Amino acid sequence: MMALPPLGMRLTRQRKKLLEILFAPPQPQHFSAEQLYVLCQNQGESVALGTIYNTLNKLTQKGVLKQVVVQAGRTYFDTNPKIHYHIYHKRTGHLVDVAQNVFSLQINQEDLTRLNLKKPYQMDIIVRVP
Ligand SMILES: [Zn+2]
Repeated sequence: MMALPPLGMRLTRQRKKLLEILFAPPQPQHFSAEQLYVLCQNQGESVALGTIYNTLNKLTQKGVLKQVVVQAGRTYFDTNPKIHYHIYHKRTGHLVDVAQNVFSLQINQEDLTRLNLKKPYQMDIIVRVP
């Protein structure tokens, strides 16, 4: 498992199990809280959904995870917090990474100013396929 920064939370048995699942190879991975709930159950550790959300949000705040909202009510937590793009398969629910050089995005300076974006531009690009 990769070295994590100080998380500022007690590492209970349930949280250790969550971290173990999140950062098991191969990396990076994308999980929904509900998927993690089921995976914990399957591995004999019952973790409340509230605890899972709580831990995922804390890890996101610490910059360990990145939240990827693919549609209303469907959020994934990405173990690669660096800027990268995604393809979301609506039918299977799979979220996969895309090599950054696959897309070329041109936004004119006026739009950047209007959107009040600051460098480095942090934006999510999610291509949804049926
Ligand atoms: Zn990703």
